[in-house]
Amino acid sequence: MVVSVKDDPFVQTRKGMVEQQLKAEGITDPLVLTAMEQIPRHLFIPEPWRYESYDNCAVPIGEGQTISQPFMVAVMTQALNLRGGEKILEIGTGSGYQAAILGWLAKEVYTVERIEPLVERARIVLHTLGFDNVHVRLGDGTLGLPEEAPFDRILITAGAPAIPPALMEQLAWGGILVAPIGDHWMQELTIVAKEEGGLRVKRGVACVFVPLMGQGGWRPGPPTGQEGP
Ligand code: SAM
Repeated sequence: MVVSVKDDPFVQTRKGMVEQQLKAEGITDPLVLTAMEQIPRHLFIPEPWRYESYDNCAVPIGEGQTISQPFMVAVMTQALNLRGGEKILEIGTGSGYQAAILGWLAKEVYTVERIEPLVERARIVLHTLGFDNVHVRLGDGTLGLPEEAPFDRILITAGAPAIPPALMEQLAWGGILVAPIGDHWMQELTIVAKEEGGLRVKRGVACVFVPLMGQGGWRPGPPTGQEGP
């Protein structure tokens, strides 16, 4: 595998991102830090916004969607507690950047996106960088991918009113699911461990994600304020 970008002008900028936005803010997993230092985030961001690639914020990727802030990508990845052999399901491919980080750290990644142009773009970037272990699928990710289940880890990268039941079912025993859960305006990063004795749920940082749409997420139409987990 993967990622050798010739004449990468952002090597130093990326090191700065890791030092100032990740290490200084409490990210400690050395594997996560290395992946985020190595993977060229700017290649996942379309030209008009590429100059913002390493800023400490979410950045537009077209189609009204965003690539998450580097710190949030690191927090979510660290929460997955990856060891290298996992099969992962990501919901919300977006740019494909988070999927690439997961592909770097785990064995196999399935990632689902509902917006076709984003699927096509992510496929091209991931293929160009040599991520043969990352599979991008078009569809409603709230239904999961029953044909590929069970998954050792599941990551939802859009804000959900609650954890879609299909995803809980497709999480392996001993697995971990990470998702931003809340309303349209604010969520809490929620980490669920599926153990023999039941579910262990931890709540983490506050966050703001674009909405998880679909059968197990939000329905189209303006939010009324009455929805909720
Ligand atoms: N992980 C992405 C990255 O690395 O660029 C960022 C994800 S972006 C914050 C959220 C994405 O979730 C959007 O691209 C959106 O279209 C997608 N999404 C929302 N609901 C979805 C669903 N039901 N199934 C699949 N993707 C969905």
